[in-house]
Amino acid sequence: MLAPLELQRRTSGTSSDMSKDMNAQNRLLKQRLADFMEEARKNERKLRRFQSLELKLIGLDSILELVETILRPDPAAVNLDMVSLLLFDPEYEVQRILRDEGVKLDRMPSLMFVTSMEEMEGLYSASLFPSLGGYRSGKHSKLFQHAGKKPASVALLPLLRYGRLIGSLNIGSHDTDKFVRGVRTDFLEHFAAVVAICIENGINLERLKRQGLTDTLTAINNRRFFDQRLKEETDAAGRSGKPLSCMLLDVDHFKRVNDTYGHQVGDLVLREVAAIIRAQLRGSDVLSRYGGEEFSALLANTDTEEAEEVAERIRRSVEERVFNPSDLDPFNTTISIGVATLKAAPDTKLEKGGGDRLIGQADRMLYDAKANGRNQVRCAPASCTLGSKP
Ligand code: GH3
Ligand code: MG
Ligand code: MG
Repeated sequence: MLAPLELQRRTSGTSSDMSKDMNAQNRLLKQRLADFMEEARKNERKLRRFQSLELKLIGLDSILELVETILRPDPAAVNLDMVSLLLFDPEYEVQRILRDEGVKLDRMPSLMFVTSMEEMEGLYSASLFPSLGGYRSGKHSKLFQHAGKKPASVALLPLLRYGRLIGSLNIGSHDTDKFVRGVRTDFLEHFAAVVAICIENGINLERLKRQGLTDTLTAINNRRFFDQRLKEETDAAGRSGKPLSCMLLDVDHFKRVNDTYGHQVGDLVLREVAAIIRAQLRGSDVLSRYGGEEFSALLANTDTEEAEEVAERIRRSVEERVFNPSDLDPFNTTISIGVATLKAAPDTKLEKGGGDRLIGQADRMLYDAKANGRNQVRCAPASCTLGSKP
């Protein structure tokens, strides 16, 4: 049995140790709680920043702005060292849409396209979940070659719509530990889901716009599109002082083609003539089916002489084309073309109806070409160039 003094010493020693332990544990718990709170606050801030970026993306109605915002997010909003976007574009349709919308694809190396699903799936091997880890040049170099410096860690986020992979959003970090396996990816997954929806919506919207502005028979633009662009192009020519040429092109004796070979062959001729004209124009020239068997073209920064050369090439190509419908004799057709040019002094504000006058003059030239025997190009003399003083 212990002496009362010894007992007292031992018990008092134990209770002081216990209280020290408890204090230490208390401090630890408090520290942990503070860490948790700090982590929660950090996540809350991150969530808010991602949410505001997502809301911004949802609110954009231009595909160009959408792509730019995804690729260059405001660093004050989300802190991403490098971002690239790879889109599945088997028929080059997305690239065409973006180009039409003014995206200079060669100046946007962080936007890439693949045409085969194998290439796309290769990034995600077995599963369609985010792929996080260290940078591997074999797998990732193509995705980050636009960046001056290789990332240390990367997160590849699959862009999915209805279980289909439509692209990959690729984020690189200079920090080796930023994207490691096991790190929480829910913010990024949510962000990728919003990006996927926005991209798909943006493309669908552009498709719809194009349907309303495209001629279904010839697949070139329709008169509505032309009228919109005529105003833009004449205004631009007024500002820049550069010449704008307009062509009206009408297939000769087309009624005879229909009457002789039938309406369906007539349709085929219209499609081919549209393709012949398109092939002779620059990508930036505006071509449309103006109505029936008549086409119109706007050639920016092109004077009468150059426009006449282009028109002559078109006339010759149509004349040389042999149409060879099955079960029928091969035949040729011809086209007449009227050309007019608008040339104003720089900074000219054109009077209202300037575009209509340009078309009217080209139409008069077309009429002359028809009256003079068809299959020819007629240009309004340079002295008739339209435009008024600033
Ligand atoms: P011109 O040399 O004076 O231009 O004679 P034309 O016969 O070409 O001109 P006209 O205006 O008399 O006839 C145009 C014809 O084009 C009549 C119309 O039926 C035909 N046409 C218009 N749109 C289409 C179409 O979408 N498909 C087909 N097959 N024919 C069309
Ligand atoms: Mg005709
Ligand atoms: Mg006609």
